[in-house]
Amino acid sequence: HAKDNGRGRYEVFDDSMHQKVQNALSLEADIREAIAWQEFIPYFQPIIQLSTLALKGFEALARWQSTKRGFVFPNDFIPLAEDTNLIEAIDMQIIEKSCQQLKYWQNELGCQDIYISCNLFSKQFFSTSLPQRIERVLINTGLAPYNLRVELTERALLENADIVHTNMQALKAMGVKILLDDFGTGYSSLGYLHRFPIDVLKIDRSFISNVHEHDNHRAIIRTIVDLAHNLNMSTVGEGIENLADAQLLQQMDCKYGQGYYFSKPMSPQHAADYIINKLK
Ligand code: C2E
Ligand code: MG
Ligand code: MG
Ligand code: MG
Repeated sequence: HAKDNGRGRYEVFDDSMHQKVQNALSLEADIREAIAWQEFIPYFQPIIQLSTLALKGFEALARWQSTKRGFVFPNDFIPLAEDTNLIEAIDMQIIEKSCQQLKYWQNELGCQDIYISCNLFSKQFFSTSLPQRIERVLINTGLAPYNLRVELTERALLENADIVHTNMQALKAMGVKILLDDFGTGYSSLGYLHRFPIDVLKIDRSFISNVHEHDNHRAIIRTIVDLAHNLNMSTVGEGIENLADAQLLQQMDCKYGQGYYFSKPMSPQHAADYIINKLK
């Protein structure tokens, strides 16, 4: 009897596992197709200087305009793309299209000083070909290196420190700045931070959201901002959703901010209107 129960449970488990594997396989196949069909496109979220409200740049955020699945957000394809190494092709597609777009805006709208900040899967920093791949994109699109930044998470700093460091140095030598994304959530060993040539810490949204109501979050943000200044880095607060948080961050010497309070990520068309308004 016990054995029957056991087998019953096993079969239910087996069915749902089977379904999950099927779903993952069909998602993987669709992602492969989407890479070939160039279905991944960047949306653009402004990064703002808090004291002046000037537009400093945009973060490029991947969206999948799928003929089969509709409009798909990163949480629904990035994890599987990371597991299957398809992320590299997606990242390069987003960087290429973002650089192309910014170059076009420079020509059409005259926004020479704003940058585009692109997310790179952290493990790409373990590959010696990364700097050349980025350089090729810059040459192909004609965008100046100081108009491009790359964002990676703390995960990249935990392994292969030598090659990660070499890649960062090569990017920096080209003029591409490096941002550490979601800072404060990860593996928070602060000892490694000063060893890498990082320009900017992006303070994770979890500390920013409604910070005006959370003393402990304020203390963490202050600590991160101090740390950044001591290491000659600047800070961007992510996920600012209201004026009170924007003001508080500015008071705490966090120079730059990003979040729904300023704008959600926008299509290229909407981002162009946004730039035109800011340049007025
Ligand atoms: P991230 O790089 O930390 O990007 C910030 C995320 O926070 C974005 O989500 C953005 O839409 C969201 N966000 C910005 N402001 C606010 C706010 O005020 N409130 C709230 N609730 N959310 C806000 P998104 O676009 O869904 O991207 C999620 C994550 O997917 C990104 O987090 C990044 O880790 C990853 N990702 C996105 N595009 C790419 C890409 O091209 N390559 C790679 N490797 N990863 C990407
Ligand atoms: Mg990011
Ligand atoms: Mg982030
Ligand atoms: Mg994030």
